[in-house]
Amino acid sequence: MSISKCSKCDSESIIFLHYVCKHLCAKHFRELFEKRFRSTVREFSMIKKDDRIAVGLSGGKDSTVLLRCLHELCKDLPMELVAITVDEGIDNYRDATLRIAKRETKKLGIEHKIVSFKKEFGKTLDTIMKKDGSLPCSYCGVLRRGLLNRGARELGADKLAIGHNLDDVAQTTLMNILRNEPDRIARFMEPQIKHPSFITRIRPLLRTPEKEVAIYAMVRGINIDHQECPYAQSAFRQIVRRQLNEMEECHPGTKFKILGSFLSMDKIMKMKSEKKLTACSSCGEPSAGKTCRFCEMRASFF
Ligand code: SF4
Repeated sequence: MSISKCSKCDSESIIFLHYVCKHLCAKHFRELFEKRFRSTVREFSMIKKDDRIAVGLSGGKDSTVLLRCLHELCKDLPMELVAITVDEGIDNYRDATLRIAKRETKKLGIEHKIVSFKKEFGKTLDTIMKKDGSLPCSYCGVLRRGLLNRGARELGADKLAIGHNLDDVAQTTLMNILRNEPDRIARFMEPQIKHPSFITRIRPLLRTPEKEVAIYAMVRGINIDHQECPYAQSAFRQIVRRQLNEMEECHPGTKFKILGSFLSMDKIMKMKSEKKLTACSSCGEPSAGKTCRFCEMRASFF
């Protein structure tokens, strides 16, 4: 089997970027990855000097790589970093990533807050699923988002950094189209949402394919856990993910094109409407309606 050479030097290639038809060695791949990370932060004005950034750190590959990249960015763009992990209570899964989150924050000297479903709601996600196992990700997503927002606020953060990569954004865009939920597309980027309790979320890995996050972790020697959440397979997202990967195989660049469409739609929608949030009548947290989804969700399992 012949070994492919890097398109930029004579070294051995470790990755083929099919969407630009280029082979890259470890050094040039790392360069491209970090350059794209920084240019994404700049493009969307995600971080200002001296911002306090809370990183939603699950301990999975995306958030772990995000934390490392932000930590390195601090050398050129001074900011304060803190991290929050939500322990949903998922047996044989969350413990491993929780260990990674603790290890990374300790190594980098970053303040780390851990919140759990068990402590907040008296029930783990596993327990909730025993009662109603139909929509694990819907429960988990809403409750986790609520806890991350509150946690970031309690840590005095200006922004909440989330490890969503290109695949996540492309999947979310397609899912919202397939479910006829354009409102969710409008809400996804959120910078237009103004509410004193709402911490703006930023996604610096927005332009980075999922596979490249995993390879970057390998190149940097970041020990990551490759297990998938046991509930992930049941999600609609998995179907969309498989289909998108097949499309990407046949039509390289599909995911980037979906991201491009999403950003164009987002711009148009933002010009037309400014989303206003009110305070939830039950918990006082930011809400698009009278009662927030967090409270509706919580009420459904108590
Ligand atoms: Fe939660 Fe679903 Fe993600 Fe598992 S896959 S952590 S249940 S959102």
